[in-house]
Amino acid sequence: MNVVPHHTRGTTYFSGGGGTVTVRDVQEIMEGWAPPDIAWERDNVGLQVGDPAARVRGILVALDATEAIVEEASRRRANLIISHHPLLFRPLRSVTTEDRNARCVMALVRKRIALYAAHTNLDFTKRGTSFALAESLGLLKQRFLRTPYRLQSKIVTFVPSSHVEAVARAMSEAGSGVIGAYDRCSFRIAGTGTFRGGEGSRPARGGAGRLERVPEVRLEMVLPRRASQSVVRAMKNAHPYEEPAYDLYQLENVTGDYGMGVIGELPRPVTLRTFIGTVRRRLGVRAPKFTGNLRSMVRSVAVCGGSGGELLPEAIVAGADVFVTADVKYHTFHDAAGRIALVDGGHFETEYPVVRAIVERLRHELRARKRPPVVAAATQSTNPVRHGLT
Ligand SMILES: [Zn+2]
Repeated sequence: MNVVPHHTRGTTYFSGGGGTVTVRDVQEIMEGWAPPDIAWERDNVGLQVGDPAARVRGILVALDATEAIVEEASRRRANLIISHHPLLFRPLRSVTTEDRNARCVMALVRKRIALYAAHTNLDFTKRGTSFALAESLGLLKQRFLRTPYRLQSKIVTFVPSSHVEAVARAMSEAGSGVIGAYDRCSFRIAGTGTFRGGEGSRPARGGAGRLERVPEVRLEMVLPRRASQSVVRAMKNAHPYEEPAYDLYQLENVTGDYGMGVIGELPRPVTLRTFIGTVRRRLGVRAPKFTGNLRSMVRSVAVCGGSGGELLPEAIVAGADVFVTADVKYHTFHDAAGRIALVDGGHFETEYPVVRAIVERLRHELRARKRPPVVAAATQSTNPVRHGLT
């Protein structure tokens, strides 16, 4: 099975009907899977060109947004492109025909095609880039190779006992209090709150200028950092006080929901030679670069789609027999020698499986919508790298 696109593949043309799905709807599906706040801080992900309220006729998925991809979308009547690599990464100082990326932006605007990018957020999420690679190599028992993500916060608020349930419920509904498979998790301890309302205040208890002592409950819950605003808003709405006191702080806890790279197992051990054959066939890699003994047996496989050389130490510590990634430096091959087999499968080839994953996820999520847009992978390869002269 060669997953890399060929020009000869059948082309789906998108229908011209006015669907009910908007660019924003598709954005929400993508962000429920790969939240933008988990992206590398210097990355630029999200809607890059277009109108969020536009109705989507067809979605074309590609690794890169190039002029040829915009042309293909236009020809196939798709009006939303989802790319893995962001078109707008370095700031555009001018938009003229002199610059390749600017020409792409101009074509998108002219043809009324929106562009959405999911990059490192898609790399770091479950079932994202590296999982798609692991899947295409047939790995079982897939899990993250590195999970450094500190994405949790805690909210603490002080509520009169009569309102604790209502405030806790509102905060839960806004996304707090989830720990693994449990929801509505909270901790509560009773105490005394004091306050004195200033001039113009309208305290829920007592009157302005009087020191009040009220039995209150300290209510605390964890929440994903991205839900902070909605949880604080929900807490304030449900809280009986005019000025509810609350603390919001970041936690050092590591979450298992996001990470880098994947490790898994082949169904049975094979020689490195056989495994490299699998990489060639399944990823469409013409000439993978590698180091390792071709007769050694491999079963535990670590992978990272795209440039993942920095994960080599984790792959070794995790006991992987082989690590498959791309853009591997000469010295990284030296670091691996004698400790782990290392295969450089190419940037495009190791990331391409995620294009299929995006297409499948969107088809699945949109299937219940009225007149859902057609979703398809681009038929052309955007890989600029070529091998040899044959
Ligand atoms: Zn990449």
